[in-house]
Amino acid sequence: MPEISSQKSAGSHSDAQKKSCARKLYGKPVAQELLSDVAARVRRLAADGVTPCLAIVSAGEDGASSTYEGSLIRRSDALGIATRQIKIPHAATQQQAEQTIARVNSDPTISGCLILRPLDASLDENAVCDVLESKKDVDGISAASLASVFSGRGFGLPPCTAEACVRVLDYYGVDVRGKHVVIVGRSLTVGRPLSMMLLARNATVTICHSKTENTEELCRHADVVVCATGRAKAFGKAFFSPGQTILDVGINFDDAGKLCGDVNAAEIEDIPCAYTPVPGGIGAVTTAVTMEHVVRLAEYQKERQRKSEKKQADE
Ligand code: NDP
Repeated sequence: MPEISSQKSAGSHSDAQKKSCARKLYGKPVAQELLSDVAARVRRLAADGVTPCLAIVSAGEDGASSTYEGSLIRRSDALGIATRQIKIPHAATQQQAEQTIARVNSDPTISGCLILRPLDASLDENAVCDVLESKKDVDGISAASLASVFSGRGFGLPPCTAEACVRVLDYYGVDVRGKHVVIVGRSLTVGRPLSMMLLARNATVTICHSKTENTEELCRHADVVVCATGRAKAFGKAFFSPGQTILDVGINFDDAGKLCGDVNAAEIEDIPCAYTPVPGGIGAVTTAVTMEHVVRLAEYQKERQRKSEKKQADE
């Protein structure tokens, strides 16, 4: 895998005069490597008679969710992963919604489940998500999965985006051990679980949020900066310094309606650093991690079943 130091300057376009020092850490090769591993594991499972299956639970009326759902189904099809769409109807009670998830837990043909939010506003979304057992939780949304990520005990997968950040660091050879990582954003989807994952790798982690008073200065002195705030181009050159690795998690639209990250990429071009572009960075890896999680859950369940059959045979 390419070390950052051996990467070509991503800014080395035809315009040699315009010196772009910042290197882009593209997500595509990271995703490709991951997906080829996933495809091989799907084949191994198939040889053992197991077809991994992703259940996608949604309210069924949110446009953004259904676009995402479509892309998940296409991606799963291409890898030989089955999919099942489950809708929670508009009029569903809390109990009915929770029963839907309970049925997913007990369905042996479903390997993993994604609950696309928002669900209907009348539902207690967290309570619905918490019904999902960690052995079926693809995106680390249940309290049980997060407890596992935070404590390092038991089985539970982290949110896919948090893991995508770690995969990008690994692919490009960025060792965080002993390094100072500043994460801006403390959501349970990105900032908090990522902080635990990097702490487990012996990074020194600082989390900034909307009440932090010196975010700019903290970022400038970090070795690695993760921007996950959802504020279009809010991180300009004052936040960064040479030699840094910057992960831009944000998916936003600028004033012209163009997709952009949290980082103002144009402003950091002259800084000799490495950063993930938007689009083409973390987002591309997140989808691949989602597929990998489905397969990991299928493998986990197969292994559990093997152990339980062996135990029964031994008794
Ligand atoms: P949330 O809105 O849940 O969290 C945003 C965080 O940013 C909060 O912790 C908030 O602080 C912090 N924040 C807001 N303003 C500031 C500020 N001025 N200074 C410092 N911190 C600030 O967002 P998510 O974590 O869900 O998502 C963050 C971004 O990542 C979004 O753009 C989202 O679209 C994107 N995303 C991308 C994914 C991918 O695959 N690439 C997947 C998931 C999300 P506080 O807690 O104090 O309010």
